[in-house]
Amino acid sequence: VYILGIETSCDETAVAIVKNGKETIANVVASQIESHKRFGGVVPEIASRHHVEQITMILEEALTEANMTMEEMDAIAVTEGPGLVGALLVGVNAAKALAFAHQKPLIGVHHIAGHIYANRLEKEFQFPLLSLVVSGGHTELILMEEHGDFKVIGETRDDAAGEAYDKVARTLQLPYPGGPKIDQLAKEGEASILFPRAWLEDGSYDFSFSGLKSAVINTLHNAKQRDKVIKKEDLAASFQESVVEVLVKKTFKAAEQFDVKQVIVAGGVAANSGLRTALEETFADKKFELMIPPLPLCTDNAAMIAAAGTIAYEQGHRAAWDLNANPSLDIEIYSARSNK
Ligand code: ATP
Ligand code: MG
Ligand code: FE
Repeated sequence: VYILGIETSCDETAVAIVKNGKETIANVVASQIESHKRFGGVVPEIASRHHVEQITMILEEALTEANMTMEEMDAIAVTEGPGLVGALLVGVNAAKALAFAHQKPLIGVHHIAGHIYANRLEKEFQFPLLSLVVSGGHTELILMEEHGDFKVIGETRDDAAGEAYDKVARTLQLPYPGGPKIDQLAKEGEASILFPRAWLEDGSYDFSFSGLKSAVINTLHNAKQRDKVIKKEDLAASFQESVVEVLVKKTFKAAEQFDVKQVIVAGGVAANSGLRTALEETFADKKFELMIPPLPLCTDNAAMIAAAGTIAYEQGHRAAWDLNANPSLDIEIYSARSNK
């Protein structure tokens, strides 16, 4: 089974071809980071325009890279949500046009299901499986009993982990996207400042990062007022330690409670070196198999959409021609529905 995947939910225009949901045949990603940098974040209108300009070329590139034609594809899978509505619409309409012109089935994919299925391009899933989703817009613990089945057991009540990284980075006047920069600085610093850890109520798998973000901003502000110098590196290391400790401990606890076979990590923040190291140490005894995607599969790409789309295709889900972009698509609703 060959699935062509299209992803345009945010600021990456991406097209990929995946075989049997497991093997990447082509994976082309055009990032718009340079265009959004001077605004300090993604500007939705600019993102949409770039997607329109890029999508045809990226599609051609993916087919060339795979040395395949559209006729050889079994279906077209596209991110239908969540994300920026104008950005999503470019991918959805491109997918519809392709599917219609080439008489192929059309499949709508949830962006976070995609992030999770990026892991299956490396190794087969074993259920029950726990996924720690840490991206620019999401921080969730998701339990899977079988393919295509997603149950949210915990989620952030305010900021997402990646969002907290980006906001703290902005306070430190680091260029967008700040996550990788903080990661770099943290390596050179010492976690000498004790920031709060938001454990929330006993037994809760929810997260909260806005208090931590405020604590970092206040620390910087107070230091400035007293002419005290705080090393950016130490601040980054202390912030990162607080984020990582909560993520890792809650993930481990959930893995034990739900007695899962695998623990997988998904989303852009899965690229964080501090998080990767802490997870590897915590799960070193191999009681649960830990999977973290290679760096290029952590952030947005279309191979992950094709991989998740393959499952939907095999389960018989088909989108109708009125498939629309859904900027706030819920993963449990996506999981439950059968869009045959
Ligand atoms: P979502 O997937 O929730 O819709 P998104 O697609 O914008 O959001 P991703 O592409 O999954 O998010 O990830 C981007 C986020 O990951 C950004 O917030 C970025 O700062 C963060 N990020 C990337 N690399 C690192 C890193 N090494 N350390 C920390 N954060 C990182
Ligand atoms: Mg992005
Ligand atoms: Fe994403």
